[in-house]
Amino acid sequence: MEAAMTTPDLLALGPRYWLPVYKPREVVLDHGKGARVWDRDGRDFIDFGAGIAVNALGHGDPDLLAALAGQAGKLWHSSNVFYTEPPLRLAEELVAASGFAERVFLCNSGAEANEAAIKLVRKWAASQGRPPEKRVIVTFRGSFHGRTLATVTATAQPKYQEGYEPLPQGFRYATFNDVADLEHAFAPGDVAAVMLEPVQGEGGVMPAAPGFIARIRELCDAHGALLVLDEIQCGMGRTGTLFAHAQDGVVPDIVTLAKALGCGFPIGAMLAAPKVAQVMQYGAHGTTFGGNPMAAAVARVALRKLGSSDVLGNVARQSQALRDGLAAINEELHVFAQVRGRGLMLGAVLADAHKGRAGEILDHAAAHGLLVLQAGPDVLRFVPPLTLSDAELAEGLQRLTRALRDFAAAT
Ligand SMILES: *Cc1c(COP(=O)(O)O)cnc(C)c1O
Repeated sequence: MEAAMTTPDLLALGPRYWLPVYKPREVVLDHGKGARVWDRDGRDFIDFGAGIAVNALGHGDPDLLAALAGQAGKLWHSSNVFYTEPPLRLAEELVAASGFAERVFLCNSGAEANEAAIKLVRKWAASQGRPPEKRVIVTFRGSFHGRTLATVTATAQPKYQEGYEPLPQGFRYATFNDVADLEHAFAPGDVAAVMLEPVQGEGGVMPAAPGFIARIRELCDAHGALLVLDEIQCGMGRTGTLFAHAQDGVVPDIVTLAKALGCGFPIGAMLAAPKVAQVMQYGAHGTTFGGNPMAAAVARVALRKLGSSDVLGNVARQSQALRDGLAAINEELHVFAQVRGRGLMLGAVLADAHKGRAGEILDHAAAHGLLVLQAGPDVLRFVPPLTLSDAELAEGLQRLTRALRDFAAAT
């Protein structure tokens, strides 16, 4: 039998054996139910982070579990040289739910979905006879699109790029929510696509201003460019509609999904509108695991449940309740300058006096039994399960209040 390890023993393994690219809080999680998780020593936490906006149906959803167990008992993997049922049905259901897409490419992560989108943009531009230097993709400062070389180049934040040069060519950065700057980026006449998150996630929970994405759509049409929306974090119901862009009144050419698409089982997807759906032909792209039948079986359930009026109604209700709770906390403690975001993707921007200290607040929160995220050093990020109950929300807010009182007292 394998020897039992104490929690301190386990906590020593990460710093010893992992490539030191992460700095997790000193908690070893063990199991979860709804918006609550327990560590291996029996301490419970309210989960306002949902594994970075992934566990959108909370932990231990019985329907997800049944889908996974059912498929796991049948067939784990077939590669893309033979069909299985789950990815066929998932693609059909994603197309139907999207209202704009005609075809789907399934992969395993957000970065891969965006990588596919970037390749599709270039292939489309090539098919139009545009030379390589006229296949520029414009992205926005503060964006986050992934960690592969192409997606980290699309990510217009130097901190993610430093040391990885030479970066791939063909990207240009504009200022988010600044139409004039975007017009300037179009001026050379070489733009093949504009790619953005309808609500920037990692960059500080920053929503596109009303009308901004519609204006981008107009500019794209005027310049013969594609509109690519990265809904990896803000999609799948998180902002109150299944697709975030439904609230922006635009029809995109490409949308990428991942994170909550598998509710914790790794899967990503790129959805392509008719204009670009057949640009990539046999052999043009591929992946061994993409469309894995277990992942697809889980994602079918996630898609059905996250698009239901039950879940979307809960997002609207709990969004307001969370905003009210944060406002009440702020009346007492004056820690936030602003709360922004959409649905259950909210960012509490720290007041000037506390700038740079989001990490410390997360430590206090964990000590009080609350898991929450930051989006940069100045913003607390709230992305709880979309099925968050009244009781879980109330308890999470209580724990946050206690954590922030400690933080304020220590200041
Ligand atoms: C998380 C995220 C990605 C990258 O997804 P991975 O699965 O980590 O590769 C890309 N875009 C956005 C908006 C994200 O939030």
